[in-house]
Amino acid sequence: MDSMDTLSAAHATLLVSALLECFVASGWLLAAAMLPRFRVATLHWAAFSLLVGLAFFGYLSSSHWPGVPVYAIGNMLMVGALALQARGLQLEAGQTPADRVFITVLALAALVQGAWLGPEQSVWRIVATSLLLSGLCAWNCVTVLRCIHQKNAQAPQAPRALGVVLSAPFALASMVFALRASTVLLAPERLMGNARPDQSISMPGALVWLFISLCMALALLGLVVYQLQRQLSQAATHDTLTGLPNRRAADEFLTQAALHAQRHRTPLSVLMIDIDFFKKVNDQHGHAGGDQVLRTLARLLKNRARASDLVTRWGGEEFLMLLPDTPLDGARDMAEQLRLAVQNSPFHWQQHNVPITISVGAATWNSGPFLANVLIADADSALYRAKNTGRNRVCVASEVAAAPGK
Ligand code: GH3
Ligand code: MG
Ligand code: MG
Repeated sequence: MDSMDTLSAAHATLLVSALLECFVASGWLLAAAMLPRFRVATLHWAAFSLLVGLAFFGYLSSSHWPGVPVYAIGNMLMVGALALQARGLQLEAGQTPADRVFITVLALAALVQGAWLGPEQSVWRIVATSLLLSGLCAWNCVTVLRCIHQKNAQAPQAPRALGVVLSAPFALASMVFALRASTVLLAPERLMGNARPDQSISMPGALVWLFISLCMALALLGLVVYQLQRQLSQAATHDTLTGLPNRRAADEFLTQAALHAQRHRTPLSVLMIDIDFFKKVNDQHGHAGGDQVLRTLARLLKNRARASDLVTRWGGEEFLMLLPDTPLDGARDMAEQLRLAVQNSPFHWQQHNVPITISVGAATWNSGPFLANVLIADADSALYRAKNTGRNRVCVASEVAAAPGK
């Protein structure tokens, strides 16, 4: 390398690029230390930046190693870097890493460098390596989209634009490498003619690659932030034991459903469901047994609900079901079906049969101003009545109103 006073523009570009990659790698290492949930993926991405930085250092100091095929080593570092990026993305998307494919790609890349090592064969070397890099970038583009649009029944769908923005750098990189392959193939003199012997990468080439790799790092950072935000909102709105939406989510859904019901003049029903004598279950089978019963009941309620209904864990051993477009009769029928299903379903804990029954209170909003707390209170009163009249039964709110004093 030249002394700092005589550093050429090309060398300065390579030096800054290498340092920037190291900087990005330390950012990923910091993220790995701070975010255990993303540790494995961020370590892969730190390795990606380090390998790219190493390739830049290699090109920078290539004049010090006459006879060493720095360009071939640089190509291998780039392929290895993108394979690691791909592996990290696959882990983040919850996929099993395609290690056999990565090993095959690396072996192919090594074969390409070995078979066309000489300067006179550089056209084929560049074409084959660029195509491999283009393929890896295209693969990463698809995996980023998979990560963002992962099917998760409990989380809202990601906006389409987010997927487009975060996958764009990978699509761009794939196109740039494909363009490089076709340019070298069709007009080799354009790329090879101006290459300096002490550099194995041109200055524009280094700048383009730096720009792309920084955009990729930014996109990966966006992906981590998005996943974090999804995780936080999931934790704030869902119950960890059953995975059902919690009371807070129920309140939000109720507000939305009420607006819909008022606009379209359709009835909105709620069912307040409570397990009978649940304390006895805990006493006989322990808290873990009780928890298992809650999980089984949550699954049963969810399986029997319509797609438009919402099953929530209201608290303790109480579940609230919201039934849009459902009149009181429909709500009563649904509650009765649920009651029978619970009574006839086997609940098990450690080879023990745990007989379970539920009591249900139903209430419906039909017209007039919507007051969520009044609707819930009506369902609660109906549930109270079901408890007081023997349990394992369904009561509807109108019965409460029709029988004052009870
Ligand atoms: P009732 O028929 O009147 O509803 O009687 P119950 O025993 O079901 O009602 P009670 O409200 O007296 O007791 C509810 C019990 O539910 C008390 C509490 O320990 C238990 N419980 C609340 N949340 C959980 C939980 O997350 N896991 C377990 N295992 N038990 C819970
Ligand atoms: Mg209760
Ligand atoms: Mg109970």
